Amino acid sequence: MLPITATDLRATFVNASRKEATSITLPDWFDDTDWGALDYLGWRDPKIARRAYVIAPSLDGAPVGILLRRADAAPRARAQCSWCQDVRLPNDVVFYSAKLAGPAGRNGNTVGTLVCEEFECSRNVRRLPPLAYEGYDLEAARLRRIDELRMRAAGFADAVARQR
Ligand SMILES: [Zn+2]
Repeated sequence: MLPITATDLRATFVNASRKEATSITLPDWFDDTDWGALDYLGWRDPKIARRAYVIAPSLDGAPVGILLRRADAAPRARAQCSWCQDVRLPNDVVFYSAKLAGPAGRNGNTVGTLVCEEFECSRNVRRLPPLAYEGYDLEAARLRRIDELRMRAAGFADAVARQR
């Protein structure tokens, strides 16, 4: 994804109140972010329990900031991430919900998704997949997974923002 500054980032949130937007704490690794290796930026608020954020380019390319709340209960079984759909499960997957943008969100409507707990999706899809069969094009498979992750993250961003 394209780099975004700490200032611009706060203005991209579509489902955060002014109060929530001002209380966003960036992760301590923010200045070292390798933007080229990310399909979306996601982190958990270091100060506010259960709160997390995702900045995902929407289908038209504009960055969309989403405030997420982590569900109280952990998924029953080992779940699969809806975004990277990594089958080798190198990390935990948890349920996050996002208030919809605008009046729908103020009326309490949310949309939920199962995502890698620390938003490891971009790293997961960049690992070479296992060799499915002789002659399987690993690099093409990896590029396809990166592409699919982008589409899914953008789809979620648009689902949250569309309610504006
Ligand atoms: Zn994932």
